[in-house]
Amino acid sequence: ALVFAEEMGVRTIPFMPALVPLRLKGGGYSRWSGIRFRGSVTLLINNVPLITDSGILQTTDYGISGIPVFQISRYAVRTLYENKSDAVSVRIDFVPDCSERELEEELFSRKERCPYKTMRQLLSGMLPEKLIPFLLPKDCPADKNNIRLVTEILKNFTAQVRDSAGLKYAQVCSGGVPLSELTEKLESRRIRNLYFTGEAVDVDGMCGGYNLQWAWSSGHAAGNAAAEI
Ligand SMILES: Cc1cc2nc3c(=O)[nH]c(=O)nc-3n(C[C@H](O)[C@H](O)[C@H](O)COP(=O)(O)OP(=O)(O)OC[C@H]3O[C@@H](n4cnc5c(N)ncnc54)[C@H](O)[C@@H]3O)c2cc1C
Repeated sequence: ALVFAEEMGVRTIPFMPALVPLRLKGGGYSRWSGIRFRGSVTLLINNVPLITDSGILQTTDYGISGIPVFQISRYAVRTLYENKSDAVSVRIDFVPDCSERELEEELFSRKERCPYKTMRQLLSGMLPEKLIPFLLPKDCPADKNNIRLVTEILKNFTAQVRDSAGLKYAQVCSGGVPLSELTEKLESRRIRNLYFTGEAVDVDGMCGGYNLQWAWSSGHAAGNAAAEI
């Protein structure tokens, strides 16, 4: 669709993956690969939160996936496309059902009840077991300072985004023919009787059926307009 549009002299934006897993910078992600847990993920641009989503997150050997990651991914990819590659990061909350203070108090209370427990044992039952060694710093006795440090890690784990998992893994594309090139009836402003619809247009929505709805609605609108000619 893009090649055709360009050949016809219509301005286009390159297709970019959206609703897609994200690759993270740094190594060692094979150690957390294959875990599903309830969490929340926030996209940060220049350390400023842009969008947060919660639900079942999945860890992979290259980064993170799951519906909440899909929901924030188009903003990450578009920012990376604008070459602000160091500006994009994600913050994961591994214990979204309690505040930082509540989590810290719970860990202190567990330690008080069972002073002999290691940090790993204190976290048992709060997180998937496989995540605990990945998140805990090396040599982390269960003292006051480390309980505070671990609370901070569990609530605010931050990693830079390298890129997305790519078009092959995306459920939809952003990019295509910008709406500014089209009339309200989706006809090209440059070429009469030429219409663009669905994913060929730079419109993409969140998970939830919005992309299929856009494909059907835009096809219906453009088809009706073309039939009126
Ligand atoms: C795995 C997956 C899951 C998804 N889940 C959802 C979901 O749950 N909800 C939702 O809303 N959206 C979902 N989507 C997105 C949604 O399916 C698309 O946004 C929508 O189908 C786009 O419709 P379209 O008509 O623009 O393009 P397409 O559905 O891609 O249709 C384009 C058609 O054109 C044909 N074609 C291509 N080139 C040519 C050519 N040269 N000549 C003739 N024919 C050609 C193709 O074969 C294709 O049949 C999902 C997508 C994927 C990949």
